[in-house]
Amino acid sequence: MRQTLVAGNWKLNGSKEVTKQLIEGILGGIGNVKNAEVAVCPPYIYVPQVAELLQASQVAWGGQNMCPQESGAYTGEISVQMLQDFGCKYVIIGHSERRALYAESDQEIAEKFVAAVDAGLIPILCVGELLEQREADETENVIAQQIKAVLDMAGIEKFAHSVIAYEPVWAIGTGKTASPQQAQDVHKFIRDMLQKENAEVAQKLQILYGGSVKPDNAKELFAKEDIDGGLIGGASLTADSFLGICTAAN
Ligand code: PEP
Repeated sequence: MRQTLVAGNWKLNGSKEVTKQLIEGILGGIGNVKNAEVAVCPPYIYVPQVAELLQASQVAWGGQNMCPQESGAYTGEISVQMLQDFGCKYVIIGHSERRALYAESDQEIAEKFVAAVDAGLIPILCVGELLEQREADETENVIAQQIKAVLDMAGIEKFAHSVIAYEPVWAIGTGKTASPQQAQDVHKFIRDMLQKENAEVAQKLQILYGGSVKPDNAKELFAKEDIDGGLIGGASLTADSFLGICTAAN
């Protein structure tokens, strides 16, 4: 049995006060969530604040990005070791916004994946197709290519220490959710692909769905066999909606 995981991706949102209120709100209701793992990924600068507020709780935290280099002349970057210094358990890798807005390549994403796993941080590797790719029946090819780039560099064993998030780009922040069956089909495709490399790793791997998950659609999505939780953007920004999704995963 795979544990369900709900991870919030706060993106570029918040302030010290908003972070405090959001975390206090989450802590106010999370005690009822006993059967799901929960994590939040704030902007880098709020990681120390979140770490302090969450340290005695069941909620984990992570970064939204990372630099694969440990130290040196990489202005503006944050290393895996720095994230770990503040107790991060997870790091989001290859989010579609980073692929599209910051031109992150499959190669760079694979380097980050390897650096994270080697240091003991769990990467949440995001993959997903554009609307035109889905309409052209290219979804499986796109997902296969994104995963293969990581597999080729990392090897299947490193996937034992990772999480994958299937996030169709057309469903992110748009209010359009993949139907539970559309999502399940891609999740199964991903698991089958990894199954060919190592059945045990594939069976244990948590594959999250991301794309306009809300409290009212979460339960149906999470009920699907290969959907092991969610990566949540917009709905992770208020305690009520995030807790509603965590409860659906419970
Ligand atoms: C995301 O950005 O990872 C995401 C899933 O966003 P949203 O839930 O807002 O669609």
